[in-house]
Amino acid sequence: LLKTKKRPGMHIVHIAAEMAPVAKVGGLGDVVTGLGRAFQKRDHLVEVVLPKYDCMDYSRISNLRILNIDLNSYFDGHTFKNKIWVGTVEGLPVYFIEPHHPARFFWRGGIYGEKDDFKRFTYFSRAALEFVLQAGKRPDIIHCHDWHTSAVAPLYWDVYVPQGLDSARIAFTCHNFEYQGTDSPAALASCGLDPQQLHRPDRMQDNFVHNRINLLKGAIVFSNIVTTVSPTYAQEARNAEGGKGLHLTLMAQSHKFFGILNGIDTESWNPASDLLITHQYSAEDISGKAANKAALRSTLRLSGTALDLERPIHLPSPLAILSQGKLGNFRFHFCQVVPLVGVFRAIVTACHFLWWLWKQVGCITRLVPQKGVHLIRHAIFRTLELGGQFVLLGSSPIDHIQREFEGLAQQFNQHPHIRLVLKYDEALSHSIYAGADIFIIPSIFEPCGLTQMIAMRYGAIPVARKTGGLNDSVFDVDDEGIPLQTRNGFTFSGVHEKDLNHALDRALNYFVYRKEWWQDLVRKAMIMDFSWNSSASQYTELYERAIARARLMKRIR
Ligand code: ADP
Repeated sequence: LLKTKKRPGMHIVHIAAEMAPVAKVGGLGDVVTGLGRAFQKRDHLVEVVLPKYDCMDYSRISNLRILNIDLNSYFDGHTFKNKIWVGTVEGLPVYFIEPHHPARFFWRGGIYGEKDDFKRFTYFSRAALEFVLQAGKRPDIIHCHDWHTSAVAPLYWDVYVPQGLDSARIAFTCHNFEYQGTDSPAALASCGLDPQQLHRPDRMQDNFVHNRINLLKGAIVFSNIVTTVSPTYAQEARNAEGGKGLHLTLMAQSHKFFGILNGIDTESWNPASDLLITHQYSAEDISGKAANKAALRSTLRLSGTALDLERPIHLPSPLAILSQGKLGNFRFHFCQVVPLVGVFRAIVTACHFLWWLWKQVGCITRLVPQKGVHLIRHAIFRTLELGGQFVLLGSSPIDHIQREFEGLAQQFNQHPHIRLVLKYDEALSHSIYAGADIFIIPSIFEPCGLTQMIAMRYGAIPVARKTGGLNDSVFDVDDEGIPLQTRNGFTFSGVHEKDLNHALDRALNYFVYRKEWWQDLVRKAMIMDFSWNSSASQYTELYERAIARARLMKRIR
């Protein structure tokens, strides 16, 4: 089980805090799985090392079993035993580390948000590398992600290369520069790093608070490849605001710093085969989308379902009515038929009008300031004002935001056109992507953003703020500077309510008044290529270049 199977390509080990769908909080989890699978398909050997959280979705791990080894790893001056589990997630081999440490690091009922997160994840980083060493693996690339596994980079060079684990180049992907993992220099010593060596401006000293160390900075300095998740965000991170204090470090390391737009896993996000939605559909036949909208309304008790307005209503021709002399169970005389057909037609026209009126706007997000919480709140009211329905799925780790939205959810609990579902719900997220006509992502900053790409794959047209990865994937339908075939949504630049209005109003307007055009737009968005193909090619190039450089250096030495 520990032996790495031979494959013609590279051997890549991801060390991460999240992996979709078993342990996912946001996009990081999707990327580990999506990128991993893309490389596996290209005949590389990909393995993932994760903490064994108590709160994982164990139903999505196949063949989970415990390995017959005790892994001892160092922390805080002691060695601790770890159990190692192995299983398959979405076709990828995954090793789960279960520490037998009295603090029960991963028995907390959640992934993040614990007071000792710094300890939990530096412990895990050390144990993960210990596992790679003890298992005799010789990976070409060790790929770590975000601050949680940033300690892998300095640990690799300072502690593990001297022990003979020297086959790998370190790749690091920052999914969000906002979260950096800082603590006192002494905290760094727990996992066996030397604070005296590392607490320096050119190494791991925090750029703002000089008596702290910064894990994210350590990964930038000590990795061979540093990437972030979109070209625009890579540019933004080079300035003080976007880099959240790390811009100078990134500038100094710019020779190895790249922005690569994430892809989405087009197999698990596929409306044509998605079993979490009620009606499968594809760009060739988008009629299933209306049925999903009806199903979503029914699930969330939104208005529209009772009338079943999604199904086309076929009027019997007046001639047929005349010849049969009946309509349904009622019999009519000729003189009664003509005005009745008129009334019936008026009702149906009104119903169709209401259907168009009740356009569905969706939003799926973590409710944190980054995501433009004030604009999300505004969009709910604006949509209602313009005769649409709004569905929000999200939750917040920030108390006052969670409370604010709980208040709103309560206020709209019985409302026929608004529903706020404040929890994490994978299945419901699929139904919303499938049911929504319009999807809003008004982020203040957005490293990449996956929801706009998933939404498009399901034919929900994005209304997005032009920032980070949104700027690299959503192109305004009215922007004449962009080739027509690339235009796929509605964008705005400012951070004020009126800026959002400009894009949202247009979207709702076009939806109502340009029916055919809208359906073409939906088909176009659905077939856009947001797969991992292009990103995986760019990562391959970076990996291969780093490996070739290492070989050259070895030969020179
Ligand atoms: P971030 O990583 O900043 O949270 P992304 O747009 O990169 O944002 O990724 C968000 C991912 O998490 C998407 O796959 C989205 O569908 C999912 N997601 C976010 N909130 C929820 C929720 N409440 N329930 C289900 N899925 C969610």
